[in-house]
This record gives sequence, C-alpha cells and structure tokens, in this order.
Amino acid sequence: MTKITQKIKEAIGTADNISKFKKFSKLKASYVEYDRFSDSNLHEGYFCYNCIYWINTSGGKCMLVEDEGPDVLGNVSDVIAPHGCCAGYEANFNKLHDTRSLSDVDAGASLDTEKNKEKITTADVK
Ligand code: SF4
Repeated sequence: MTKITQKIKEAIGTADNISKFKKFSKLKASYVEYDRFSDSNLHEGYFCYNCIYWINTSGGKCMLVEDEGPDVLGNVSDVIAPHGCCAGYEANFNKLHDTRSLSDVDAGASLDTEKNKEKITTADVK
C-alpha cells in the first residue's frame, strides 16, 4: 500500500478525522492528465474514473487529492479529470472492464465477467 493510500484510509477511519484531513497537492500525489486519453474508453486502464477516490457528482473531485494547482506537467485544469491518474490510484473493480484474453487465464478456464470483478490486484487488469 502506498503512503498516500495509507493516509486516506486512516482519515476515513473516523468521521472526526475526515474534517481534519488535508488533501495532497497534485504535485505531491504525482497527478497527471493526458489530454490524448480524454476521449478514451475510460473503463479500461488506470484513470481517475476507475479509482475508488474519484467523485464525479461535484464536477471532478477526489477524496485524496486537491483539484486545484498544477499537475506534474505544469498544467492547471482545476478539476480531477476522469482521464487523470496519480500515485494513490486504487482500482474500483465495479467500473473496470476485464481486458484479459483467454490465453492469460488458466488453461481450460472460461472468462466470467462477474467473477472477474472479484479480482484483488490491479495486476489482473490492463
Ligand atoms: S487516481 Fe485520481 S481519483 Fe484516484 S486518488 Fe489519484 S487523483 Fe484521486
């Protein structure tokens, strides 16, 4: 578990701590947006859209990282974009699609997309 992920998990531990929790800057979280991915299928790959900390209802926010300030490339968007990502990424398997081919799984096995949602590591998705 990364240090940044550990910190948010500790913060979520008690309601009292949530009000005291200070988010990481984009720079500290190694956050970056790649414009060329903005039209991508966000169900595949490592994007904020697929992260458990991403909040869409308020227009692109994150529970962990500030939406204001420059990213590691010096770009300022003032949102946490769906096509962004940072070092604190934690996969939300309810949003990700399994992109493994049959050759990647055990011989004789068939792909069960519902079962694949039970994956516990990001190594299982591309
Ligand atoms: S990947 Fe995106 S949503 Fe997830 S912690 Fe980083 S900035 Fe937040």
